[in-house]
This record gives sequence, C-alpha cells and structure tokens, in this order.
Amino acid sequence: MHVGVPKEIKNHEYRVGLTPQAVMELVRHGHQVSVERDAGQAIGFDNAAYQAAGAKLVSAEQVFAEADLIVKVKEPQAEERARLRPGQVLFTYLHLAPDRAQTEDLLASGATCIAYETVTDAQGRLPLLAPMSEVAGRMAIQAGASCLEKARGGRGVLLGGVPGVPRGKVVILGGGVVGANALAMAVGIGADVSVLDKNPDVLRRLDAQYGNRITTLYSTASVVEEQLCGADLVVGAVLIPGAAAPKLISAELVRRMQPGAVLVDVAIDQGGCAETSRPTTHADPTYVVDEVVHYCVANMPGAVARTSTQALNNATLPFVLALANKGARQALGDDPHLLNGLNVCAGQLTNASVAEALGLPV
Ligand code: NAD
Repeated sequence: MHVGVPKEIKNHEYRVGLTPQAVMELVRHGHQVSVERDAGQAIGFDNAAYQAAGAKLVSAEQVFAEADLIVKVKEPQAEERARLRPGQVLFTYLHLAPDRAQTEDLLASGATCIAYETVTDAQGRLPLLAPMSEVAGRMAIQAGASCLEKARGGRGVLLGGVPGVPRGKVVILGGGVVGANALAMAVGIGADVSVLDKNPDVLRRLDAQYGNRITTLYSTASVVEEQLCGADLVVGAVLIPGAAAPKLISAELVRRMQPGAVLVDVAIDQGGCAETSRPTTHADPTYVVDEVVHYCVANMPGAVARTSTQALNNATLPFVLALANKGARQALGDDPHLLNGLNVCAGQLTNASVAEALGLPV
C-alpha cells in the first residue's frame, strides 16, 4: 500500500504522523511511504532520516494525490480536507463531535476516516488517547514544580525538599492515566504525595504499587477541601467519560489555598475541575486567582512534541500496519476495536456519539 505523511499545518503543531522508525517498519512490510519534506524537521526527525528509512520526500499535494492511506496527528485543516479523495483512508485525531464544518467536509470527501480517539481496547479503554495522557500526567509535575518558583508567582517551594527541610505537598485529583503518571513523577522527585479517586479499585492498585510512599484517599468534598488547604501543588486529573469535568474545586476553596500554591488543571480540555480554571496556551500558560497560580494548558503534549510523537507512534503503529497490510476493509472487519475508530465512511457518519452531538443521521 502507498502510505502518506503530510507535515502538520495546524498552528504550533510540531508532531508528525510517522517517525522514521515507523516508516522503516512499513517499508520492511513491503509498503511505499511518501513523507512531506520537512514534516519532522522541527522535532529532530530530518529529511535524511526519513530517506534512510526508505521514504520518498514529496510535497503536500503529492502526499494527498498519491497515498492510499494518510497518517496524521491533528484533524485535517480545511485545505487538507479539500485534498481528500473517495476511497482514501485517513487515520488521525478527528474530534468531530464539536466540529460540524470538518464533519461535513469529511462526509463530502468520500474518504474513510478513522479517528484515533475512538479506537478502543479489550478493557474498553482508549489506547490511542492514553499516550497523550501519560505525557500530560508526567508534564504536570514538571510544569507545577517550575510554577512553584518565586519568579513564576509560586510559593518558593522545592518539591523534593532538602535534608532538614520538609518536602512539598502534592495532591493529585484522579488516579487514572494522567493521575498515575503524575504520581510516578511526584514520587520520583521526592514529594509528599496524596492521590484522591472515587474508584476504590484505582486506589487499591496505586496502594499496591507504592505502599506507604504515598497516601491514597477516597475523594469526597471534605477530603478534597482538607487536602487542598495544605497543598503546594494540586494536579487536576479527573475524568467522567463523555461529560464535562466535575467541578471539585470551588472558587471559595481556591481562596483558602496557601498563597503561592499551584493548580495544574490537566482536565481543562474537558472544562477543568476548578471553578477558576480557564484554558491557557504554551505561549502564556499561567494566571493567578486569589494568589493561586493556575496552569491550564489544553494541549500539554504539544510542548514535548518529539516525545509525544514517539509515544503516539508506539500506540498507532500496530493499527497502521494492519491497515496497510490488509487494506482498510479487512483490517476494520477483523478488529472491532479499530472499527470503533471509524467515524466517516464513503459519505456516511458511522459513529453514534458524533451523530448525536451534531444531530445528523448515522
Ligand atoms: P482516566 O479516565 O484514565 O482517569 C480519570 C480518573 O478520574 C478515573 O480514575 C476516575 O475514577 C477519576 N474520577 C472521576 N471523578 C472523580 C472525582 N469526583 N474525584 C476523584 N476522582 C475522580 O482519564 P485520564 O486519561 O487520566 O484523563 C484525565 C483528564 O486529563 C481528561 O479530562 C483528559 O481529557 C485530560 N487530558 C488533558 C491533556 C492536556 O493536554 N491538558 C492531555 C491528556 C489528557
């Protein structure tokens, strides 16, 4: 099969659909791969690396004109949508539910569009979203630690402490993928960490893993309140699938937090778990409310685009290989989890949640 990788054109998007290593795997399986010139340049995957992996370097027009399967990262922008053809397969993040214009263009294109974010696994999880949650969870501690410095408005606390000085107190709300990865970093840095969750199984699993190096707490309003009042760094990592993030932190509770404390609200892409949270960007990531520094960047993995690209490729490559080796029809027929990723097929919407959100027929 002919696989194509265009350079991402969304503003400040530096990730790329396939790494040179992934290209090499496809080439080893007998596929032809075309990569747009400079597609990975910004994150150290240069043209020579793609050529050495066996890719042909081409223009964006050629990628869309020649490839049977297009592998991307972000949803196709209007000019990319205009280039899609009937029968062509697009594999990328789509997030169609809030995006009518994109949905209409994909329907009109006649292409087969498979969304990373709705591919499932045997446990009912979302394996192509998980790598980005892993990245965001780990980054939350890094970002939070830096915000705790005086120059960033923080209380001047070093999370690991030093001999003779107490460690900083980190409170993590939600022990799922983001929370567990934030926890790993916070423990590694030597902080005093508590993790709160509503799901006792999540707390059991983390307790079994870390024992007395962490405190696990069942999440109730009074426990959240008590923990936050003594926290140096709070990480918001809660998720109720398909719903807005629960507002666990009221504006009044923010007022009672320690001056210079930091809230990294990772759940901001679902509205955030504090009443005082609003989305920010990497260019201007923080603001202060009642002396609490808020870091609410909605696309945290974008800041570490090289790591994020590698993590994403580890998760997508098996599916890319299946699509290329078998062709989309058979790959989708053989794997119900990949089939769950199918959002648009030959002018038809094939995802019930997207259809419901947009009031369109499936
Ligand atoms: P997840 O489903 O793995 O974990 C969410 C956890 O929250 C679950 O363990 C759940 O039991 C817990 N939870 C739900 N309600 C709770 C409550 N009231 N109190 C305590 N815990 C509660 O989800 P995830 O992959 O860890 O994602 C978490 C959030 O981070 C999501 O909103 C996701 O979209 C977001 N996210 C943001 C970025 C970013 O760049 N900002 C990147 C990746 C993920």
